[in-house]
Amino acid sequence: MTFSKRHLLGIEPLSPPEITTLLDLADRYAERERTTDKHATALAGMTQINMFFENSTRTQASFEIAGKRLGADVMNMAMQTSSVKKGETLIDTALTLNAMHPDLLVVRHPHSGAVNLLAEKVNCAVLNAGDGRHEHPTQALLDALTIRRRKGRLHRLNIAICGDIAHSRVARSNILLLGKMENRVKLIGPPTLMPAGVADWGVEVYDDMARGLEGADVVMMLRLQRERMDGGFIPSEREYYHRYGLDAEKLACAKEDAIVMHPGPMNRGVEIDGTIADDINRSVIQEQVEMGVAVRMAAMDLLAQNLAAERAAYA
Ligand code: ASP
Repeated sequence: MTFSKRHLLGIEPLSPPEITTLLDLADRYAERERTTDKHATALAGMTQINMFFENSTRTQASFEIAGKRLGADVMNMAMQTSSVKKGETLIDTALTLNAMHPDLLVVRHPHSGAVNLLAEKVNCAVLNAGDGRHEHPTQALLDALTIRRRKGRLHRLNIAICGDIAHSRVARSNILLLGKMENRVKLIGPPTLMPAGVADWGVEVYDDMARGLEGADVVMMLRLQRERMDGGFIPSEREYYHRYGLDAEKLACAKEDAIVMHPGPMNRGVEIDGTIADDINRSVIQEQVEMGVAVRMAAMDLLAQNLAAERAAYA
């Protein structure tokens, strides 16, 4: 099989053929999701535990739906009321859950690297549902699937990623994936919201929307990650919207058929104008959510196959 990984911790370790294998399978699941025959058996008899140490709407719901569609027993740990609140460490919590023999562990954590650490301590497959400002692999994969379906390809596209790049795991995973698939990636935002060392990332950097959006096939907007900011990164939200918020005037600088994306949750009137976000001729934001379920089904299906093969080899 082309997809050989034990865990899905990030885009960084994935090869272009592995990305294509996952997207091809997700495409088939996306088609099936639009029929009345939604249920498959790839995870039948398996147990999936979702551990979200940070808030989530789309990611947690779609991982739960994806697992159920594939026949897994799905458990959502209520982290707000778990023993984590009594001071139990991440590793102790993971070891406790590991003793209950889950097959898939889906983890979101506010600290970069926490999910990789946890993956070293358990026997099951671990999926990173977002760790700090590090990676959010399933988001980048669902964005890639959305782009591929809309543009008919996932290479040689002109893609602008705009806003709070510094604090965004979505940006990081997308930059890695889109770069591996040989696209032209442009980052647009104020210098205060660009990560250190961005010059070495193989991308173009702009601080002016009109210049950066020129010729763009895809315009990807990002949320201002207030919860990860510990100082004044922008003068005011009003000023930020004026310079970097996506409105009709700025969008006119991109290609006429450019699509608009946002991973959610959106701050309307801060990074994006509500009318653009709701414009079904330009915005693919709801399709991104739809593709989220298909991509998570594909990711768990592939990891489960590898896990089953590994177990059979040791049996
Ligand atoms: N939902 C995405 C994430 O968890 C994007 C965001 O929160 O802005 O990273």
